Parts: sequence; structure tokens; C-alpha cells
Amino acid sequence: MQMEKKIFTIQDIRDEGGGIKLFTLSPDDGTNIRFKPGQFAMVCKIENGGFGKLSRPYSIASSPLHAALRFAIKITGGQFTSVLEKMKAGEKLGVTGPLGHFQYEKEENVVCLAAGTGVASMTGILEYVAHSRQKGKFTLFYSNKKKGAIACREILDHIHAENPHIKVVYTLTQEQPEGWKGELGRINAEMVRKHADGAKDATFFVCGPLEFAKAMKEMALGLGADPKKVKIEAWG
Ligand SMILES: Cc1cc2nc3c(=O)[nH]c(=O)nc-3n(C[C@H](O)[C@H](O)[C@H](O)COP(=O)(O)OP(=O)(O)OC[C@H]3O[C@@H](n4cnc5c(N)ncnc54)[C@H](O)[C@@H]3O)c2cc1C
Repeated sequence: MQMEKKIFTIQDIRDEGGGIKLFTLSPDDGTNIRFKPGQFAMVCKIENGGFGKLSRPYSIASSPLHAALRFAIKITGGQFTSVLEKMKAGEKLGVTGPLGHFQYEKEENVVCLAAGTGVASMTGILEYVAHSRQKGKFTLFYSNKKKGAIACREILDHIHAENPHIKVVYTLTQEQPEGWKGELGRINAEMVRKHADGAKDATFFVCGPLEFAKAMKEMALGLGADPKKVKIEAWG
């Protein structure tokens, strides 16, 4: 897909769990960039009408069939997120993309494994699956230390409620809140087998920190997954 460079206006900024802010952006020229679900884009500030020098890659957390673009960004106190933290609705951001080989290609048996902000690309993929009425089985395993750190939950729960063939399994590694109905502990083979029927034949999408991605790849291969069907995006 051809790279595009466009100016977007921030429509909305919502505080999610774990210090993550959900940015919704609308394209100033009325047409979104074209991308495949799972891809990322470079985001920068618009300064004096031009693209600022400081930019960072962010996974697109929305479906390409959406008119707006969404990003789930953890405010870390680093150079660029310190700028984003102060931004408000109505201000402008530059977006260059799409980029990356982490792409959903209409596979019909899919297991998504996410930790932290890795949920961003998965949200985009599953929203696309729902929007395009893609048939098949889709299970997202989403790991967080604590319940309060879960991001994009409203969107994910809505996708599942409207599309029962898209399942979302939340797991917590550092607490067991009262009344918690999700899983506990790190994502493991037993958990995947329990919730995702036929996982060994699935295409795996793994997104999160490097250590998480390494462990999840090993787990998927241990389940019998085809190494060519394990797609990974990792950072941090
Ligand atoms: C393909 C790809 C997709 C990505 N998608 C997402 C996404 O969807 N959401 C998301 O939140 N991030 C994502 N990232 C990460 C993102 O690009 C940035 O790296 C992140 O937002 C931090 O940028 P920053 O400029 O704020 O931090 P930087 O200034 O670049 O610093 C990097 C890290 O070092 C820490 N740091 C900086 N200075 C210091 C210091 N003096 N002492 C100690 N620590 C310090 C910061 O806290 C930060 O965590 C993605 C990265 C890649 C490669």
C-alpha cells in the first residue's frame, strides 16, 4: 500500500487504563489513509503548518473501514509522549503511513496475544473483522498486571457483544480483584487451548514488549503452530 502523509485533527482524547490515552483523529481532507489492519504509522506534531521533526511509530488501533484513525498511546514521560500528554482536542497531528509487515490478511482462524499497549493493533484487527463481517474464529488473549491497566476494554467488549465469534480473554498477572471473571497469570498453552478451539492451526498475532513476544512465540510453536503463521510486532 502506498505511503501517505496527512494532517489530522484530534477529535477526542480518552484516558484508558495503565496511563494509556486513546486518541481519535479525523483527516483534514476528509479521507483516511489506506492501510491493512495491524499496521502502524509515524505520528508527529504539526508545527507552523508543517510536519514536526520529532515523530514516533504507533500501531493503528482502528479498522481501515473507519473514517477516523485511533491510537492507544502510553504516556511514559519520554520525549514525544510528554508532548502528546499536553495536547487537546482540536489540535493537529501529522500521520505518515502505513508501515510494517504485521498485517491481518483475512485469515479465518486467528489467535491474538497482546500485552500492554500491544492491544492497539489487535483492537484495529478485531474491529476490522467485525466491520467486514469476516467469518471464522478469533480469540484475543490480553495480559495486564492489574485490572486498572486494561485499555480499549469498552471497544473490545462491544466488539465481542456484537460478534460472539470474536472472543476476548483478559488475564491479570499481579492481582485477583473481587468478582474477577477473567483469567489469572501469564498467557500459557493451557489457557490458549481452553479458550481457542483449534489453536494449533491458527494464525498467531503477537504484539507487546520484546520479552513477551519471545515467550508467546515459543508458546505458539509449542502448541504446534506453523512458524510461518506466527506474526510478531514488538517494542520496548
Ligand atoms: C512498530 C511500533 C509500534 C508501536 N506502537 C505503539 C503503540 O501503539 N502505543 C504505544 O504507546 N507505543 C507504541 N510504540 C512505542 C512508541 O513508538 C514510543 O517508543 C513510545 O511512545 C515512547 O516514546 P517517547 O518519545 O515518549 O519516549 P522516548 O523519549 O523515545 O524514550 C523511550 C523510553 O525511555 C524512557 N526514558 C526517556 N528518557 C528517560 C530518562 N532520562 N530516564 C529514564 N527513562 C527515560 C521513556 O520513559 C520511554 O519509555 C510502538 C513502537 C513501535 C516500534
